[in-house]
Amino acid sequence: MTFLEVAGIYKQGEKEAVLQDISFSQAKFQKIAIAGETGSGKSTLLKIIAGLIQPDAGTVTFEGDRVKGPAEKLVAGHPGIAYHSQQYELPEFLRVEQVLRYANSLPQEDAEELYAVCHIHHLLSRRTDQLSGGERQRIALARLLLTSPKLLLLDEPFSNLDTGHKNLLKTIIQNLSEQLDITCILISHDPLDSLSWADEILVMQAGTVSQKGTPQEIYQQPANEYIAGLFGKYTLLNPEQAQAFLGRSVASLKGKSML
Ligand code: ADP
Repeated sequence: MTFLEVAGIYKQGEKEAVLQDISFSQAKFQKIAIAGETGSGKSTLLKIIAGLIQPDAGTVTFEGDRVKGPAEKLVAGHPGIAYHSQQYELPEFLRVEQVLRYANSLPQEDAEELYAVCHIHHLLSRRTDQLSGGERQRIALARLLLTSPKLLLLDEPFSNLDTGHKNLLKTIIQNLSEQLDITCILISHDPLDSLSWADEILVMQAGTVSQKGTPQEIYQQPANEYIAGLFGKYTLLNPEQAQAFLGRSVASLKGKSML
């Protein structure tokens, strides 16, 4: 059974299509980055996978169940899928411990492991109004993870974070995948994040998926000039980084248009 199957998704916007004929399948235990320019439909796609937006055509199937949208079901989505965006809310003036206790149905041992992975143990006795932006985001993430999702969808989780919090969040997502077997799909507008972090990258352009592949495939065999430009511009400046991220010889890339 395919873990996630997105088939023939179409979404009409006010004037033109926001998404057109999006189809792909995704195996579990992977970290997938969705890349592409602003307005290419990344958020809309993620929300359709989460069951938050109703597509005009097409289906999302998660572990054999069709994910229903808001027009079909009062409580949309699927219990195995969790969606996190920058618009999350935390109750104010409560201790973090209380916020998490209300959401928790896990055995204490599992919750403790989750708090360790999310790096929030030291924050449990703090009040929510005494947290930094990065700390708040980790609490919101932990609260979501207490529902034991198998697929975590993250809409631009790294934006608005300083480098320290961003790197910590990257490690957390890595550990979610490795220690807790959670598959993550995230949107990132930073191609360097996608190259360095993802097992697979899905590139969107004007409402379609223009390429899906490993960072190596996307970098070495970009499907078009836009993708070559998007992923090539950093390596153009830092070929050594390309070597570190992609685990191959920079010398082998010499002569290609990207270097
Ligand atoms: P991205 O995440 O790649 O920046 P979005 O998915 O947010 O792109 O938006 C793609 C386009 O679709 C934008 O032009 C936006 O105005 C439009 N759009 C977003 N959501 C909806 C919706 N629910 N209905 C119609 N149009 C939408």
